[in-house]
Order: sequence, then structure tokens, then C-alpha cells
Amino acid sequence: MDIYSGHINKLIEQLSRLPGVGAKSAQRLAFHIINMPQEEVEKLTRTMLDAKANIRYCKECFTLTDKDLCPICANQARDHKTIMVVEHTRDMAAYEKTGKYEGVYHVLHGAISPMLGIGPGDLKIKELILRLEKDVDEVIIATNSSLEGETTAMYLSRLIKPTGIKVTRIASGVPVGGDLEYIDEVTLLRALEGRTQL
Ligand code: ZN
Repeated sequence: MDIYSGHINKLIEQLSRLPGVGAKSAQRLAFHIINMPQEEVEKLTRTMLDAKANIRYCKECFTLTDKDLCPICANQARDHKTIMVVEHTRDMAAYEKTGKYEGVYHVLHGAISPMLGIGPGDLKIKELILRLEKDVDEVIIATNSSLEGETTAMYLSRLIKPTGIKVTRIASGVPVGGDLEYIDEVTLLRALEGRTQL
């Protein structure tokens, strides 16, 4: 028996498709939205549509940004010869929060996963190799310590090593299977400082 109207069901169904939103949270959010003032709902949907329309990839590091170049790539005070490779924009944000990393980034937008059918061609790897034609001293591989993250790290190190550029991997201070965005800043810094050459 359907206890809610079709519109509520539809809203709950759409919300429950979002990552990390279970059936219960979707219900709670749906009722919250319905009880919000009309203009608040309009503001929320407008913000979502504007973000979708205006956010693009940085042409250098492929993070999500509003401009051609993200603020980090546009910053000449950063060390453009050190590139930290991360899986997602949110991992980059985690390292930025430490305030101690001076280099730039490269966002792959995922990791190699044969299980999910994600191969190197689905990630921003070609784009990374192109960047290495410029003056680069070190590539720090900071993919997650999950199976996919390790597979990606291995793949990248094999690809980069022949160029003669130094390739390092962040230390295993990051717990196995750990998602970078949930790790505290001290642990992240320790992982960065303790990186080893591949
Ligand atoms: Zn950038």
C-alpha cells in the first residue's frame, strides 16, 4: 500500500539516489523540503542548476572549478614542479586543509577498478602524462589505500618511471581502505612527509 502521494514518492526516490542517503534520510529530507518556504526551495534548486551549469574542470589539474584555471593552478607562488595525484576533488580539499602542501595537484576522477569496469582510459591519466612533458620534479601519488587506489598507484608509477621523473607514494599512515577525505590533517601530513620513492 502506498501511504504517500505520487509526488512525495518521486521526491523520496530521487533523493535516495544521492550517495550516502538511505531510505530513511531520503524520507526525512523529502518532508523537510516540502515544509520549506517556497522561496527557499527555489533558491536551493537554482543553486544546484547554477552549479551544474557553471562548474567545469580546471584545464590543468582537472579539479572542479568556476574558471579555466583553478585558484591553485593559477597561483604562481605554488610549486608547479611537484604534482600530487589524487582520486577526487574532495581529496585535494583534504590536503589543502592541512595548509602545508606547496605543490599543485592532478585529479584523476576515480581509480582503476576492473570490478567496476573502470580502466585507465576512464581516468585523467593521459592528461597527467601530458603535463609531465613540462618541467616536473616529482609526482606524489596520493590515491586511497584501497585495492583500487593501490592498483592505480602501481599503474602510474610504471607509466611515469621511464620518464626519469621522481615518483613517490604517500606513507601508509593512511589506514588501509581509508578514504582520504575522512582522515584527520595530522595523519595526512604524516603520510605526506613519510612518502617513499617508488
Ligand atoms: Zn587546477
